[in-house]
Amino acid sequence: MEYRRLVEIYDRLDATSSTLEKTDILANAFGDAGELLPELTQLARGRLFAAWESDDLGVSSSLTAQAIVDATGIDDEQIQSWWRETGDLGNAAANAVENRAQTTLVSETLDVRTVYDTLRGLSEYEGPGSQERRINDIADLLADAEPDEARYIVRTIVGAMRLGVGEGTIRDALAMAFFDGSDEAIQAVERAYEVTNDFRTVGETAREQGRDGLDALEVELFRPVKAMLAQKAEDVADALDATEQPLVEYKYDGMRTKIHVSSDEIRVFTRQLEDVTTQFPDIVAAVRDEITVESAIIEAEVVSYDSETGKPIPFQEFSKRIKRKNDIEKMATEYPATVHVFDLLYHDGQSLVDAPLAERVKHLEGIIEHGGETVQRAANLQSASAEGAESFYADALEAGQEGLIVKNANASYQPGSRVGYMLKVKPMMEPLDLVVVQAKWSEGRKSDWLGRLRLACWDAEQEELREVGRMFSGMTDAELREITAKLEPLIQSIDDRTANLRPEVVIQVEYEEIQESTTYDSGYALRFPRFGGFRDDLGPENADRLERVERLYEEQ
Ligand code: AMP
Repeated sequence: MEYRRLVEIYDRLDATSSTLEKTDILANAFGDAGELLPELTQLARGRLFAAWESDDLGVSSSLTAQAIVDATGIDDEQIQSWWRETGDLGNAAANAVENRAQTTLVSETLDVRTVYDTLRGLSEYEGPGSQERRINDIADLLADAEPDEARYIVRTIVGAMRLGVGEGTIRDALAMAFFDGSDEAIQAVERAYEVTNDFRTVGETAREQGRDGLDALEVELFRPVKAMLAQKAEDVADALDATEQPLVEYKYDGMRTKIHVSSDEIRVFTRQLEDVTTQFPDIVAAVRDEITVESAIIEAEVVSYDSETGKPIPFQEFSKRIKRKNDIEKMATEYPATVHVFDLLYHDGQSLVDAPLAERVKHLEGIIEHGGETVQRAANLQSASAEGAESFYADALEAGQEGLIVKNANASYQPGSRVGYMLKVKPMMEPLDLVVVQAKWSEGRKSDWLGRLRLACWDAEQEELREVGRMFSGMTDAELREITAKLEPLIQSIDDRTANLRPEVVIQVEYEEIQESTTYDSGYALRFPRFGGFRDDLGPENADRLERVERLYEEQ
């Protein structure tokens, strides 16, 4: 298939804002794709890799800009200026090709497979000279490209397709292309995607083997699925109430891992599906020694403990190990891993994702060496009374853990969805009083209201406000109306839909956690900030100090 035809499809997707129409366009494209279907299911979203593959092309936007210069002979300043004007390097590339100084003598027609393979290949270069080779490969593609083709090639490279095509659109389009598009067909495609994490496999199986093939797709070793996510409960009682058959476990604050085990290979993946096997030789060794199994996919939270206090080391510190490429053994001695196992998705050749949690846990407990040093079953209570669970919660906090996770022992494993099979209970952090320094007009029904607030604390040393994050929601309509009325008179300038404000309004902000951040000039960012009320009694200089943010960060 010529790349030009894919560009036509992109343009049609771009021309409509209706999800139904987008689905229709893609369903037709998928139906006609033949052998090229796997690539198309990826390229439709501007993806080159499945969620579980490493997707680092090793190409920055400025490197891409360099390739545009090389391919077209247009100077860098002009490219930068187009880029700034439109905010889209893809448009800059299209302009550059349109106005190109050099013309290649024999220009090849680009086909989809060449573009896909060339772009994927960029990630494979290693060592000295790899940057140049990447620039050359991109420049070669762009030299053969028409303006519209260049636009989408560059958008694919920088990962900004702007076509409004998400996972749901691909799923629905496959259900329509190869089945009847009914809810039932959509669910079958969804399930297949959950267990494979790969639309290429789902598409190809649907096309070649129909429903039976699709339904037979299962979790496989070394192809990690997304993690099942937790919802938040107010407190222990609330979590128990909401859970049919509670299995209560400590909530550890560590690295969520999926460990894939076969007789000759062990691999460790993070929650983001990144392969971190090399960085954690201690986990691999412990799994080899303390788990007896032919094959398995084990889920665990990995924590490192301070050998003196016995308390968990903060995740921020432990997580240094994830990024480290050298001194691996030294890091493993400094931050040794304890692997708290809590789920088993696959056991000796069989998927367990459809089995109830109670059964998965029974299998899990059957394969670990009890009393093992590094691999330990997550602390748990199997049939908890209300008081039992409360005191278990107190124990967890006393031990320096984050709280509890309350799971439904009757539930299957649902990769990636927050279905309420698992509720987390943890103490709220002390709220902060923060100044609103910027606001954005909301979208849709609430477009007249100023929501989306940028918040700041007070740096007493420098006598300046320092930003600590943005709050998107948590306000009722009445509160949004009230804050709009308070903020409008304070507007100093407007930038697109953003209003810069005289810093006067102070609000109370609740949040789950403070993280280090390079986005905000305080160096910190609140995780999941929520509106906790107006503090009309406070002026900006009475807002919480940066020092307090720092202290809370250290203490959490
Ligand atoms: P959160 O990241 O706050 O949404 O909480 C969910 C996370 O808690 C999961 O992604 C796991 O990484 C982590 N977690 C800690 N202990 C457990 C446990 N016993 N069972 C399941 N997840 C756990």
